[in-house]
Amino acid sequence: MSAKDTPKAQISDIFQCQRCGYCCQGETTVSLDARDQERMVAALGMSREEVRDRYWRITGTTVQMKTVDGHCIFYSENKGCTVHEGRPWRCGQWPLHPSILTDEANFTAIRTSCPGINKNLDYATFRTILARLQQEQERLNF
Ligand code: SF4
Ligand code: SF4
Repeated sequence: MSAKDTPKAQISDIFQCQRCGYCCQGETTVSLDARDQERMVAALGMSREEVRDRYWRITGTTVQMKTVDGHCIFYSENKGCTVHEGRPWRCGQWPLHPSILTDEANFTAIRTSCPGINKNLDYATFRTILARLQQEQERLNF
């Protein structure tokens, strides 16, 4: 079956977040582009200066979120992401990263780390559905 003939798919066909928090762990975070920064400031209801000082790590022109105890400063073990509406678009995109489309090794690595990936699908099927979804949406966020 070609991608063209594939029935309309939902993100939930290939991924359902288990809220395990694994993707919020680590000593660095995704970077925030200008729109991410604006959205986060609005979601937090603070001044940009306050958000910058409390939550951002700025290295040259790169803006990331601070980390605390090895996880993103916004991650709470009980609540998950505490800035959900204002999270960077890359957080919303994860784990359906476009690199999955070009390299099965990326798919395997992401599937290993993210328990939300539908483990019943082989790479070809997963890739076909993801490609279709990405054609339909400018930025594929869940
Ligand atoms: S690793 Fe996957 S399942 Fe776990 S919180 Fe992140 S996206 Fe959700
Ligand atoms: S902003 Fe939210 S989703 Fe993104 S790394 Fe931080 S806690 Fe996780």
